[in-house]
Amino acid sequence: MLWIGIITYGVVMSAGSRHAAIAATTPPAACFLLAPLFAMANGDPALFGWLTVFSAMLSIASTLTVLGLSNQLFESQQRGRLLEEALYTDSETGLPTRALLKRAGQEAKSRGDGFTFAVLSLDGKAHLRGVLGFEQFAQLTVQAAKCLGEIHDGPVCLISIDTLGLLIPETDATCAVAYAERLRARFETPLSLGGIAIDVSPVMGLAPMTENHASLRHATIAVEQAKAAHQPVAMFDPTAYGDPSGNLALMSRMLNALQNGDMTLHYQPKLHLRSGKVLAAEALCRWNDSKCGAIPVDAFIAMAEETGHIRALTEWVVGRVIEDQRRLEAQGHRITLAVNISGALLGDPQFARWALETVAPCEGKIVFEVTETAVINDPERALKNVAAWAEAGIPIAIDDYGSGLSSLAYLKSLPAKELKLDRSLVGDVANSGKDALLVKSTIDLAHGLGLEVTAEGVETPAALAALKLVGCDWAQGYLLSRPLNLHAFAAFLESFASGEGGVLAEGLQDLNRQRLA
Ligand code: C2E
Ligand code: MG
Ligand code: MG
Repeated sequence: MLWIGIITYGVVMSAGSRHAAIAATTPPAACFLLAPLFAMANGDPALFGWLTVFSAMLSIASTLTVLGLSNQLFESQQRGRLLEEALYTDSETGLPTRALLKRAGQEAKSRGDGFTFAVLSLDGKAHLRGVLGFEQFAQLTVQAAKCLGEIHDGPVCLISIDTLGLLIPETDATCAVAYAERLRARFETPLSLGGIAIDVSPVMGLAPMTENHASLRHATIAVEQAKAAHQPVAMFDPTAYGDPSGNLALMSRMLNALQNGDMTLHYQPKLHLRSGKVLAAEALCRWNDSKCGAIPVDAFIAMAEETGHIRALTEWVVGRVIEDQRRLEAQGHRITLAVNISGALLGDPQFARWALETVAPCEGKIVFEVTETAVINDPERALKNVAAWAEAGIPIAIDDYGSGLSSLAYLKSLPAKELKLDRSLVGDVANSGKDALLVKSTIDLAHGLGLEVTAEGVETPAALAALKLVGCDWAQGYLLSRPLNLHAFAAFLESFASGEGGVLAEGLQDLNRQRLA
């Protein structure tokens, strides 16, 4: 209003100039744009007015820029604070996080203070989380952190829902363990959750700072080592864990071995008990490293499974078996060959497809041995793949039956043709009535389900005779032969077929005599 009044006065003063009249009717916010009109109304050159407009716009733009920048600065400071809060404080429990523990470790290190990383798993008994559910368990973890905070000077951080971490201000292993025991002792009094007393039995893993290095990850691994050793507190044991960089090097050497001929296949013959003929064999890989000598199967198969390299190895084995089978056939030996398919591969759809395309054309002469536990681990995908292989005509054998948790339900659901009894089941079959009964009832059950039975680890003539008596279909073991390289295996087949039997043990010759009688 005041502005309009001033302008109207201007109009009156400039004796009703047309320019001043326009200015009078313009909204106040845009008035500075009319400076040229005012100038002209005053009889001055319009340029003066335009200069005024330009400088006004310049000052508005710089004011806006300054305002925007300070806003951005404020926002980024706020964002930084939020990020830091999210990084160092767990939003659900309000506890400090693993990142904060690591930072505390770095700060202690830069101050030159020695320490030991400690990780405490509340779920020592493993079932507590299942009973309480996720949310209640989270509250229990908060309670535990509070209790530790009462006796420990420093942050007690959340590593995962059932795991807390802290820095023990000790570097000496004995002192660190004693400190950890004192922390654990706090849990002799049960925690309280909604008025209910809850007993927790924490397990602690420690990783001391050595050569200026301490790792939270090592402390976490030490928890697993403590659990495995059934101990309440364990210091990280690098020898038990192995050397990760060494493991990787082993795998890259294994991949090289597939190319350079250090990896070979051995074949262990299987005797068909009714016909007395060797009609099948199992392919087993052997790695003879040019530098280190023979590397045990157990040392690299498990590692290959863990690192995903088992696929390359298995594809190599399958390819080699197909080739060897052709070679043997060319020498007059029609023989079924079995390949071990690791559980780690059963759920792999790409491998499943590759195997189907590669092996299905072999008309049932290549068998896939799978372990039952592998199927139990990931039943849905594993069963789907195994079913697809079986449908395409690839015979499936269930390996190592009786070595672990054998489930009859899975026996029924697997489209297998063969059951391989683990050597732990077979070893005492000739000496123990109970074992013989167990083997016989398993064989009867398998036959009832339409499966043929192979006994693994047949080492003595007595075992072979007992197995034949209880209706076993196939025998495999050192009695017949150890696994042989391709050349030796072909020679074995020759001598066996010609009845020389020089390599055969006495029990086997008896068996052949029975067959001929
Ligand atoms: P498996 O499939 O149960 O193979 C049978 C194992 O028992 C072989 O050990 C064989 O040498 C051994 N064996 C055979 N007869 C006897 C006997 O009379 N007495 C005793 N004490 N042992 C006997 P190996 O070759 O050390 O293989 C161990 C395991 O490694 C195999 O068990 C199999 O699970 C795995 N494996 C071997 N080669 C391969 C492979 O190419 N791929 C995969 N995925 N696994 C393989
Ligand atoms: Mg096997
Ligand atoms: Mg086996």
